[in-house]
Amino acid sequence: MNKKIAFLLCLAIFFIGGTICAQTEQKPFKVVIDAGHGGHDPGCNGVHSKEKDVCLSTALKLGKLITDNCPNVKVIYTRKTDVFIELYRRAQIANTNKADVFISIHCNAAENTSAGGTETWVMGLHKSESNQAVARAENSAILKEKNYENNYEGYNPNSPEANIIFALYSNAYLTNSILLANKVQKSLVNTNHFTNRGVKQAGFWVLHKVAMPSILIELGFLTNAENEKYLTSDANLNKMATAIYKGFVDYYNTVTNHNLETSPSTPLPATEAKEETADKTNTEEKENKITPQPSPLVSTKEFKNDVHFKVQFLSSPKKIALTDKQFNNIPDLNCYYENSLWKYTAGDEPTQADAANILKELKSRYNDAFIIAFQGDKKITVSEANALLKK
Ligand SMILES: [Zn+2]
Repeated sequence: MNKKIAFLLCLAIFFIGGTICAQTEQKPFKVVIDAGHGGHDPGCNGVHSKEKDVCLSTALKLGKLITDNCPNVKVIYTRKTDVFIELYRRAQIANTNKADVFISIHCNAAENTSAGGTETWVMGLHKSESNQAVARAENSAILKEKNYENNYEGYNPNSPEANIIFALYSNAYLTNSILLANKVQKSLVNTNHFTNRGVKQAGFWVLHKVAMPSILIELGFLTNAENEKYLTSDANLNKMATAIYKGFVDYYNTVTNHNLETSPSTPLPATEAKEETADKTNTEEKENKITPQPSPLVSTKEFKNDVHFKVQFLSSPKKIALTDKQFNNIPDLNCYYENSLWKYTAGDEPTQADAANILKELKSRYNDAFIIAFQGDKKITVSEANALLKK
């Protein structure tokens, strides 16, 4: 029980108090709507559709509903057109605008084409210790941005006491994230009658960078014929956007003193049924389009036999903080110590092919980057890793 602990307690009260008292009548409530993927990153593909298009269409519809019906809510989009935006930029847009809520919209894909349904994710810590270390490092970066280190002498974000505070800090957002996620998820499955895959928690890169309640919606599976048929109808996307809108307004009413009708008084303009365009797609095009890819956003994937592939892009005799500027925009950044060197890695992938995609991206910045593999925390060779995957 010393001054330091007293300070940390004050900080905790500040964070929690801040979340509860943040909403006032005058200040506009800001919602960031994030359409997943875009530009050269199509996300996952269905037979007739690309994830980036379904996401953008739904995001614009949701934004229009909020703009037309919620006078005190300001909508900020991470993208309004088919452009590529890095994940860190999306979080940055939300953070610099001091948004109150972050809603990321995606679609799912699976090798098993019978997998289908809607799910909503909230940020949670990774299970493995190494990933928790990354989360800690990033949390300390958030504190740095806000000059906490300069303001409070002797404060060390890596101390065990600080971890208690971080737990409280992210829990303050987590409570509201789960509240919003539950409302949106319920509203969506009541509308599309897809399988309810529930509200889930994972370490999404884009979510764990944003300092506000945040959710990531997987509308449905583009690799599931029924889900895809539904999601490629513009009229159905109107319904989905309206369902998300209702969940959002319910949340907004709960955290502010407003009492808006959850059904929009100005609904989206009715659109002509466009289902037939899907059937017109010729077979040639169809053949080219069947390439479901895992979403690069998902950082908790299925790791068979606990095999992880990463891209090692830098080694250094001196430890470099993971929060260092040079590491901006490195996905799933991590490091390990071997043969008197600190080695820095990007990605955390279930297959060598997935790691190869990250390698391709990093080659322009780090031309001697290469793929490595781990089983749990133990480094193994890439061929050993591939052998383990065949078991
Ligand atoms: Zn996605």
